[in-house]
Amino acid sequence: MSHASSEISNTSPLSAELRAAPPAGLYVHLPFCVAHCPYCDFVVYAGAEARGPRARTERLYEAVERELELRADALDERFGAARPPLATLYFGGGTPSLVSGERLERLMTTIRRRYGLERGAEITLEANPGPDERGNLAAFAAAGVNRISFGAQSLNGAELRRLGRRHSPEDVAAAVAEARTAGIGSVNLDLLYDLPGQTLDGWAATLNAALDLGPDHLSLYALTLDDPDAEGLTGETGDHLPTARGARRWREAARREQDDDRAADQYRLASDRLAAAGWRGYEISNWARPGHESRHSLTYWERRRYEAVGPGAHAFDGAVRRWNAAGLERYIAALLPADGPGSVPPGDSETLAPETAESERVILALRLDRGVPAAWASRPEFAEAFSWAESSGLIERVDLAGEAHLRLTLKGRLLSNELFARLV
Ligand code: SF4
Repeated sequence: MSHASSEISNTSPLSAELRAAPPAGLYVHLPFCVAHCPYCDFVVYAGAEARGPRARTERLYEAVERELELRADALDERFGAARPPLATLYFGGGTPSLVSGERLERLMTTIRRRYGLERGAEITLEANPGPDERGNLAAFAAAGVNRISFGAQSLNGAELRRLGRRHSPEDVAAAVAEARTAGIGSVNLDLLYDLPGQTLDGWAATLNAALDLGPDHLSLYALTLDDPDAEGLTGETGDHLPTARGARRWREAARREQDDDRAADQYRLASDRLAAAGWRGYEISNWARPGHESRHSLTYWERRRYEAVGPGAHAFDGAVRRWNAAGLERYIAALLPADGPGSVPPGDSETLAPETAESERVILALRLDRGVPAAWASRPEFAEAFSWAESSGLIERVDLAGEAHLRLTLKGRLLSNELFARLV
């Protein structure tokens, strides 16, 4: 195995992290949604592009098939066709559950043929709970999906309407029941807190209602209202789309009804409630019943390698981060030209400097409940930040299988961004 950069020293404890290696996971971005929620800045194409006579879904799926082939060719060239099969596969979006069972089956056939899937591989599909959005769960299960992630967001009808969501709390219950009937063994619900106007009691009610549905995994995120244009992410090769004017106005109004203190109380409440119910908060924003941690998401937090296809998708080979541009038109045009075999879509990449990779690894590991080996904290570039965090009660020392680790306390989870900023 060769080093990706001659600057990397063999003595660096992280040097192995900078070597390119075959992917353990594959992310497939399917960007269509029935409607565009005003708070969402994922790469999404909605309305007439997603349904009806002018829909571009079939062209996109063809283009994704083509990209899967081209990326697999490149992996074969670099690592050989006998490279290890994938441990995880994740269909994200967008609303991937809008895909037909037949189309998903075709994508799965291509992925099995070109990438391989190890026995017991985790295969996740994101779905919306509404009856016309959750798709054919039985067909998805038959195609191999064994984990489903529903974008529930809230179990309060008024909050869902305010968010511009098309489903009701009853739809979430029906979707979970349907997934179980289809034999899907692992069910996640995404929920949002710090919603405009949301009370602590309202959040507790959503959380309790979610637990009553018997999911295996919960992803709880504070509503973040970013501005990808202002952050410079929407240019030619940017991985985001510009924000529509109406969505921008919605976000400005919603921001005025958010409250950091309330969000902290909501996080504390969830953390206590889920711990009491025997759930493991294995990552800052993710809780699971034992054995249901998201193996695909752990690939990201553990800085393992993953391939990615679809508009706006990000890949990481251990040394280089690569992403596709968000634009659908150019994505399809590159992969499905009128003549010729097609080429990889436009995008960009960055090669990580060793010190960037080291900070990133420490920060990502701190997101997890096992934290980092204590030895990492004594390294000169991190010592000051860790000493500040320990004296401020943000981290605690624990013994994990005979090795001293440092991990975030509850206070540390709430103030993690302050620590992360000091580790960069
Ligand atoms: S359904 Fe999900 S992915 Fe689609 S616009 Fe709404 S939040 Fe974004």
